[in-house]
Amino acid sequence: MQDRYGRTITYMRLSVTELCNLRCRYCMPAEGVCKKTHDDMLTEEEIVLAVQTAASLGVRKLRITGGEPLVKKNIVSICRRCAAVEGIEEVCMTTNGVLLPQLAAPLREAGVRRLNISLDTLDPDKYRYITRIGSLEDALRGIEAALEAGFEKVKLNAVLIGGFNDDEIRPLAELSRKWPVDMRFIEMMPMVDSGDFNAEAFIPCNRVLEVLGGELHEEARDGGVARLYRLEGAQGRIGLINPLSSHFCAECNRIRLTADGKLKPCLHGKAEFSIKGLDGEGMREQFITAMLAKPEWHGELSFQNRSQAGRMMNTIGG
Ligand code: SAM
Ligand code: SF4
Repeated sequence: MQDRYGRTITYMRLSVTELCNLRCRYCMPAEGVCKKTHDDMLTEEEIVLAVQTAASLGVRKLRITGGEPLVKKNIVSICRRCAAVEGIEEVCMTTNGVLLPQLAAPLREAGVRRLNISLDTLDPDKYRYITRIGSLEDALRGIEAALEAGFEKVKLNAVLIGGFNDDEIRPLAELSRKWPVDMRFIEMMPMVDSGDFNAEAFIPCNRVLEVLGGELHEEARDGGVARLYRLEGAQGRIGLINPLSSHFCAECNRIRLTADGKLKPCLHGKAEFSIKGLDGEGMREQFITAMLAKPEWHGELSFQNRSQAGRMMNTIGG
């Protein structure tokens, strides 16, 4: 379906939980989430119905996210049922990777084709700092499990943070030589709360170009939001995702569904449309309303002009 600005909505980001086994400083509060009641969250049946409705309106690609999707007990079943929905051509997932040693093979078998794994640093102390409770070793084991499980594509995502990991641009980029993975750098987005980060932490992805300069060969875009490059002889690409320094609203083909059943027309907008408890025509109408409510762009986004979403990222899904 097309929105009011002629953009065709073909991609849904589906958050299946707000809970997480990490506590990344830019994403969620140290104390975790105030657990909503079971009744507030979408059930597996409602999730599948929502995916069927989205597919009937032209959604073809689904990205399962969270919170951490792998802490959801029925995640393999959700993936399998979503992948079987008529019209859905691709199910992918974004994960912190920690639980992939147990779950990579079942997810692949359930029909998940591609994985994005978050990895902000290669330093164990810095990993512990940024995730507050995580272990780098667990994340690296998860990446290796993903590579062994035969996904069609594995991408690594690093949120680029001034004064934290801008000194690791080269070693992170080198992972695209070591493994057949794309290494993507993402500008940190100023959500309702950004932990302790000050203005200097919000740096543009062009910093990657300054560091790697002439070593990067530009490649054609692949339909995604990243500008793509390759290091000489690398197995994977380098991607730069600039939601702040150059937004991609004109090409936005997405709708988001949160774990508590809210359709979000825009990541950084306040508008939300609940589908909790709806089915059939009622749910379909709510999807159409949400798609037609997509704004032309999300407005200025910077340290001073924070996201209007009013939610932390773990309750949206990225
Ligand atoms: N737990 C999974 C993970 O970390 O990959 C999936 C959910 S997480 C909210 C999805 C993505 O959003 C991750 O790549 C994470 O780094 C990114 N993210 C979270 N907060 C962000 C922020 N303030 N700015 C930019 N990216 C952010
Ligand atoms: Fe959890 Fe992902 Fe948020 Fe980190 S970025 S706290 S892993 S949901």
